[in-house]
Order: sequence, then C-alpha cells, then structure tokens
Amino acid sequence: MERGGASGPLREEGCGIGRDLRESREGPRHVGGGEGESFEAGVVQVLGAAVGKKRGQKVQAGAKAQFGNVEPVAKAGREAVAGKKDVAGFGKAAGKREVGVVKGAADGDDLVAPIQIRLWVWWHLRYPGFVGEWARAGGMTRVDVTIRGAGIFGLSIAFACARRGARVRVIDPGGVGAGSSGGLVGALAPHVPEAWNDKKQFQLESLLMAEGWWGEVVSVSGLEPGHLRSGRLQPLADARAVEVARAREATAAVLWGDAAVWRVEAAPAGWGPLSPTGLVVRDTLTARLSPRMGLAALAAGVAALGGEVLRDGDEAGLVVDATGVAGLAALSSAVGRPAGGGVKGQAASLRFEAGNAPQIFVDALHVVPHADGTVAIGSTSENVWQDMATDAALEALIAKAVAAVPMLAGAEVVERWAGVRPRARSRAPMLGAWPGRAGWFVANGGFKIGFGMAPKVAEVMADLVLDGRDGVPEGFRVEASL
Ligand SMILES: Cc1cc2nc3c(=O)[nH]c(=O)nc-3n(C[C@H](O)[C@H](O)[C@H](O)COP(=O)(O)OP(=O)(O)OC[C@H]3O[C@@H](n4cnc5c(N)ncnc54)[C@H](O)[C@@H]3O)c2cc1C
Repeated sequence: MERGGASGPLREEGCGIGRDLRESREGPRHVGGGEGESFEAGVVQVLGAAVGKKRGQKVQAGAKAQFGNVEPVAKAGREAVAGKKDVAGFGKAAGKREVGVVKGAADGDDLVAPIQIRLWVWWHLRYPGFVGEWARAGGMTRVDVTIRGAGIFGLSIAFACARRGARVRVIDPGGVGAGSSGGLVGALAPHVPEAWNDKKQFQLESLLMAEGWWGEVVSVSGLEPGHLRSGRLQPLADARAVEVARAREATAAVLWGDAAVWRVEAAPAGWGPLSPTGLVVRDTLTARLSPRMGLAALAAGVAALGGEVLRDGDEAGLVVDATGVAGLAALSSAVGRPAGGGVKGQAASLRFEAGNAPQIFVDALHVVPHADGTVAIGSTSENVWQDMATDAALEALIAKAVAAVPMLAGAEVVERWAGVRPRARSRAPMLGAWPGRAGWFVANGGFKIGFGMAPKVAEVMADLVLDGRDGVPEGFRVEASL
C-alpha cells in the first residue's frame, strides 16, 4: 500500500487497517487511533524509523489499540515520527487514554498487536529515558539505533549503545575506516595543562577512561586495538621553554591530580628527541592506539553484541549521523550556513621497532611507536588541497622527524597516507540533536583529536540517544557551530 501524495489519501498507520486518512505533509495527521479501537487482521503500515518496524508486519485480528491521541510530525518517508498532542507522559495516561504503540516483531510473526507497551516517542519530544529502558528490557527485536559512518565516532557510539543493550546498525558505503579514521598516527595526546576549559576537561576524562573502555572492547571483540598509555616526551628548546614547562608541572598537579604527571627531566639516552637544553617534558597521560586495529576491534565488538556493520542498508530507529566531512557539508546545506569543513592531513609509517617507548612531540610533529614494529609520523595540516595524494609536504615532515629523532635515520617508509579531518566551525566536537530533524543526532568535529575523544563522546552520545541524558558541554553543542 503506497502512501498518498501531498494531499492524497493515506492508509492509517499502526492500526485501523483500511481507513483512509487525509494527509498533509505540512501539518500533523492522526495515526494513533482512539483507545480500544480494534485492529483488523492485516498488514501494518507503520513507518520503520518511528518504531523500528517495517511495513508488512501482521497484527492480530481484534487486538485492541491503546493509542492516545497521537499525532505525527508529518515528514516524508523514513523521517516520519510520532509526535504527540496531549500525551502526558510515556506509558502514562493522557486524559482518559493510555498510550502505547504496536510492538515490532519479525516478519511473518502473527502477533504484534499492542499489549501493555510504551510509546516510542523521540527524545526531542522531551520524553527521556524510554529508549534505553525499552532496549534493555528486550522490547526491541529489530534496530534501535542506526549509525551512519563507520569511523571512530560512529563505531565508538555504536559499541557504547550495543553494550547498553540496544540493537545497532552501522552503515558506511565506504566500509570501516574509509574516512579520516583510517589512518596511521593514533596519538591520544592531552592538551597542555593550563587555561582550562570544557574541551580540555572532556578530553582529560576521555583519556583517563580510555584504558578501561578499550579494555572492554578487547574483552567483547577478542581483538587488540593497540592501546597503551606509553607517555610522551617533548624536547625543550630554550630557557624560556623550560620555564613554561616547569610552571605547567604545578598546573598539571592541580588539573590532572593523581591521574598523571607532567614533569621536566633530563632527556633520556637512546629513544628520545634531540633537546638543545638537554631537558624534556615527560607526561604519563599520553597514550597510543592503532587507528585501524581500533576500528576493527570496535566493528567486531558491535557484531559480537548483536549489531551489524553494513555498506548499505535502511535506517531504522533513531539515527546518529557520524559521517565526518560529508556530514558537515550536509549539515551546512541543511541549515543554510557553514557548520564546518575539512582539513587535509598527511602521515607516514616507518618500519622501526621502538617497543613500548613513549611517543615524541616536537614542534607540532607526532612520532608514535606502535606495537606492530612501526613508528607513525604525523601530520601535515592543509586547509587547501587539490587531491588526496601524498606529496612533498609529507616528505618534508618525514625529514623533520628524522632530524628530531635521529634514531629514525634510514628507517624504511612502509606507508604514506592522507585523510581529511572533520573540523566543526567551533573547532570542538559537535554533538547533539540534528537541528529540526526528529530522531536524528550528530556526532562530528573530531578534528585532530577524534581518537582521544572517542570513549567519552561514545558514552555521552549513548546517554543522549538512548536515555535522553544530556551531558554535552556547551561548547560541543551543534548550535555552537551554527
Ligand atoms: C593525518 C591525520 C592524522 C590524525 N591523527 C590523529 C591522532 O593522532 N589522534 C587523534 O585523536 N586524531 C587524529 N586525527 C583525527 C581523527 O582521525 C579524526 O578526528 C577522526 O577520524 C574523525 O572521525 P569520524 O568518525 O568523525 O570521521 P571519519 O573517520 O571521517 O568517518 C566518517 C565516515 O562516514 C562515512 N560516510 C560519509 N558519508 C556517509 C553517508 N552518507 N552514509 C554513511 N556513511 C557515510 C565515510 O565513508 C567515513 O567512513 C588525524 C587525522 C588525520 C587526517
């Protein structure tokens, strides 16, 4: 049965098969039906994204509808969602009516008629908590959350949601790691411990939770993402740099507390950077992670938890758009103003066995030893570029790395890679509801620290999407970039 046109007849959705309703895409239309209205045996004409069901499911003859006076936000296709007029609260009485919806079931199941069930209402309609509750209670047999984008943000959010009992579907036409997450560097490096703000605090919390969070990924997936808090060395170029670094010893003690140290010490013999002063800053907060192994582990973890990672598929349930630069362009065009853009970066991987040695940061250059006997070098930062090729800028970066860390001289370059980082206009991550699009959320703007931010971004987004709990810092809100 097809939906009517802009003003054509429409079969009632969810109950009362056979009744034609007038539809206007501009205005609300009635889908719920009155309390006690009987279902006829027949095929449900529900919109999949609203309640996680497909058209074509069957309902039991004579089952009683328990809908309240539900009115949908009229939108085309899968964006249609149930709105509400006078629903007092989820699962509660609205006037004299109790509200609920038809429960989803597998195709061919006979009985999916309403029993004592809860109304699937979107978070933005101010009914927090119900999605997570329902998912955890096993009420959903299909997909609760669709995540677009299999980069570090999309897969981390998918993993966090799946771990909380939601059924997730990740869709990425390019496959896992097709975007900026599919690179080489994997430095989980903190901001300097001073001039504190929301972004630095969020990142600190994310870095501190990373070990346990990735440990959970390992235990669910059986795959190793190469996470290790191996620390970092930064050479100090002159007396002024030493003075600033020593001042940060004190601020780090306050801001990081017992969690990690930042201290000035003699440059080590062996693995380490050249230091004109003979001194370096060593911090014990910085970690490494293999980007590709991390993504593989997350994808396997999602699958182990009953989710799916697809190149193509339909959206169902709530939708999280984590599509990186493409998503920023789509959002910009949807809201009619620039929400962000991309910054190209080039990186390289050298064959060099540095074991678990600390990474090195010198003059904006990351040198990161990984567990597979390579050392990653990154990255260029280019606001303008012609294509995704690597070029002379990367060769200069490699030369700079060898000059800073002479032990790398002669190491074979095993891979050169380029990607485009998604940078929100605010330069901070962009998390929250997609403006004006019911049931859609945005997770974007990882920019240069997406991997470091991922564990906390994932949990904050799962809180928001599944439970309606909003822990998004002000500066990370979507509106902050619009
Ligand atoms: C050279 C370089 C070095 C970096 N080094 C570090 C580092 O050391 N540490 C760190 O923390 N961060 C680093 N970053 C930044 C980090 O990689 C990004 O912040 C992060 O990858 C962003 O992740 P994402 O999931 O938001 O985006 P992406 O990884 O770009 O993922 C977006 C995905 O969406 C998919 N997609 C696009 N359109 C659609 C659609 N319509 N439907 C479904 N899917 C779609 C794409 O195929 C892509 O896979 C680096 C980045 C670069 C380029």
